[in-house]
Amino acid sequence: MTSRPTAAGEVAPASAGEAARQSCHACGAGGLVAFYEVGGVPAQTCVLLDSAHEAEAYPRGEILLAYCGSCGFIQNVRFDLALVDYSKPTEESQAFSPRFTEFASRLADELVHQHGLDGKTVLEVGCGKGDFLELLAERGIAFGLGIDPGYLPNRDEADTSRVEYRREWYGAGDTHLTGDLVLSRHLMEHVPNVGEFFGWLVESAMQTPGSVMFTEVPDTTRVLAEGAFWDVYHEHCSYFTLGSLARALRAAGMTVTGLRYGFDDQYLLAQSVPGAGGEVREEEDTPDQIAELAEHFARVTADRVGHWRSTIADVQAGGGAVAVWGGGSKAAAFLTSVEADDVTVVDINPHKQGKWLPGSAVEVRSPEVLLEVRPDLVIPMNPIYVDEISTDLDSMGLAPRVEAL
Ligand SMILES: [Zn+2]
Repeated sequence: MTSRPTAAGEVAPASAGEAARQSCHACGAGGLVAFYEVGGVPAQTCVLLDSAHEAEAYPRGEILLAYCGSCGFIQNVRFDLALVDYSKPTEESQAFSPRFTEFASRLADELVHQHGLDGKTVLEVGCGKGDFLELLAERGIAFGLGIDPGYLPNRDEADTSRVEYRREWYGAGDTHLTGDLVLSRHLMEHVPNVGEFFGWLVESAMQTPGSVMFTEVPDTTRVLAEGAFWDVYHEHCSYFTLGSLARALRAAGMTVTGLRYGFDDQYLLAQSVPGAGGEVREEEDTPDQIAELAEHFARVTADRVGHWRSTIADVQAGGGAVAVWGGGSKAAAFLTSVEADDVTVVDINPHKQGKWLPGSAVEVRSPEVLLEVRPDLVIPMNPIYVDEISTDLDSMGLAPRVEAL
């Protein structure tokens, strides 16, 4: 008989035992420590569906987050790859936000400049729709190869003469693919077998003398420190901090040559080169610090869920309307966890509008709908966009309370 969790996020005793029997996917050490459990979440939060019916019927998965005491890596031990379908078109691209576009554009400049990529080659594993590879092509790389099972032929008219895409998985049989830069952005958080996968990427990098590897993943330090439960998704099976990312790269035989935060400290950016024996960098956190943060996350999550449930209920009880700004993964996770009804969800990305979020089954609409809804509270799903959103609301003549996650 299994006991059920009693509060939002609390780990049941049987689940703690389940995690203790698992091994770390980054370093292989046994005895993981579970700290957060939630069931009935959308199997994939980044998908958008065509109807309310499809959104309601969408598969659900479970989350049991556990950390490794040896390396600090965090994984969802209940991740079920069978529930996740990356071959279907998803809408992960943030390319429609000026703020994100600027970040990507500056990063492309930096990579081309720092590594002298003019006339060189790039392999991007998990290239999504190819937006970033095309930025690199515009900046003079000779050739870019992108590989992603969810790649879709270009929807706009960008110049694709120096890029090639393969709509498939990258795996053990693809380590002959290589480039002067081996790039993965927002891929590794979706990869369960982190240690093995990094090993393949290192083999790819080693095919080109002098190759550099660049890895970008969401930062988990902030998620843990802020109790940001809306940033925990079933399909994000792997969670990194500066320290655990660097340790995973070293374990795969890389020397970490650059390690920092980016995009207002929301992402981790690591540069590494093939070769074992690199020093621990001063930016790295320790496994003990991660363990402490994980325990902190467990304590504050229940409070945070409670805060948002009562904030939304208070506005609605007074006859007011609530809108969520940002129709992506955060909105799907947030609305599922706080179990909010009658919330309007808007997004500036026209490709998301008219689609439905999995789990909560809410339609994503154009921000213009707020002229009719006249919300009293707008909740931006990402604090980085608060200024952008406030400007948009202002230009519509609306002045709701704006409280970001
Ligand atoms: Zn580990």
